[in-house]
Amino acid sequence: MIDQINAILPQTQCRQCGFQGCRPYAEAIASGVADINQCPPGGDEGIIALAHLLNIDPKPLNPQFGQHKPKSVAFIIEKDCIGCVKCIAACPVDAILGAAKFMHTVIASECTGCELCVAPCPVDCIIMKPLPTPLDKEQSLIQAQKNTTAQLAKQRYDARCLRKENESIENAERAKQRRAALVKSQLESQTV
Ligand code: SF4
Ligand code: SF4
Ligand code: SF4
Repeated sequence: MIDQINAILPQTQCRQCGFQGCRPYAEAIASGVADINQCPPGGDEGIIALAHLLNIDPKPLNPQFGQHKPKSVAFIIEKDCIGCVKCIAACPVDAILGAAKFMHTVIASECTGCELCVAPCPVDCIIMKPLPTPLDKEQSLIQAQKNTTAQLAKQRYDARCLRKENESIENAERAKQRRAALVKSQLESQTV
């Protein structure tokens, strides 16, 4: 059920629902902790799909979590970037390229429009640019593209979560080894 709910969610990974990403929100819906109307990027379309899946009545988007708005992508005004890497740390899908003290740039095709990189930038050089509104005849093509983009965002989010988990396991292991080495050297000095 969690996977089915997660498949409906837009994978923007913006945390507006009050959870750390789409999957944690899917888990909260499945366990009855969260309601189905907390995802602004999914909007009415998403709420109706969730209601259908869960066999319950749809309800309006709860404005406490934000408003539905057209998709946009982040853009870095590169001449102003000071290379602080704060945006990279904030991006949930690794859509920003750059290194410390070097100019950064957004990979537009990977950006979900979550806006999480905007606030941490100390020099306000990240802006959101709305995507052009599609013509009616392009709608089905755009929908197919949206589905593919959501799947890619989900894969990038999952990969980032796995990387963070591995990093914290490695850090814990290193700390354990340092503690063991310290205890050993203390014992040796006591013996001497
Ligand atoms: S798109 Fe944003 S608000 Fe919607 S479920 Fe994902 S993280 Fe939550
Ligand atoms: S580049 Fe910014 S807006 Fe785009 S996905 Fe990353 S954090 Fe979100
Ligand atoms: S947060 Fe702003 S200044 Fe810092 S690296 Fe990102 S774009 Fe550049």
